[in-house]
Amino acid sequence: MCIFCKIVNKEIPSNPVLESDDFLAFHDLNPKAPVHILVIPKIHVESFNEVSSEIMAKMTPFMQDVAKEMGVEDSGYRLITNIGDNGGQEVRHLHFHLLGGAKLQWGHFADADPKDFI
Ligand code: AMP
Repeated sequence: MCIFCKIVNKEIPSNPVLESDDFLAFHDLNPKAPVHILVIPKIHVESFNEVSSEIMAKMTPFMQDVAKEMGVEDSGYRLITNIGDNGGQEVRHLHFHLLGGAKLQWGHFADADPKDFI
């Protein structure tokens, strides 16, 4: 069983901020911003590649509620989902990082200079 399924099953602890029948939001263990929440479906979905439109349709308002719950709805925030090796996905259970609470930086995402590919 994957680590996020174990969190859903309460086999390992988390610091939850919002829960519904289908989704769970909890604090990231190694926050990269003042607000860094992980939002997951309770059922195991490996990544964004495999998620159904039905789950995403339900997940959207849940993530909007998480932003409200964390008080970043108006100040702004970023949603990121990493997919596969090049995406840097370490945990193979779909999760959205909700980051905020400060002005987030925007920069190069790859070691290579993007201009080399133009
Ligand atoms: P990713 O690289 O997109 O797969 O992100 C995985 C994220 O899960 C990282 O930001 C980790 O800090 C976070 N993480 C891993 N294990 C836990 C855990 N037990 N509780 C909370 N966050 C975790």
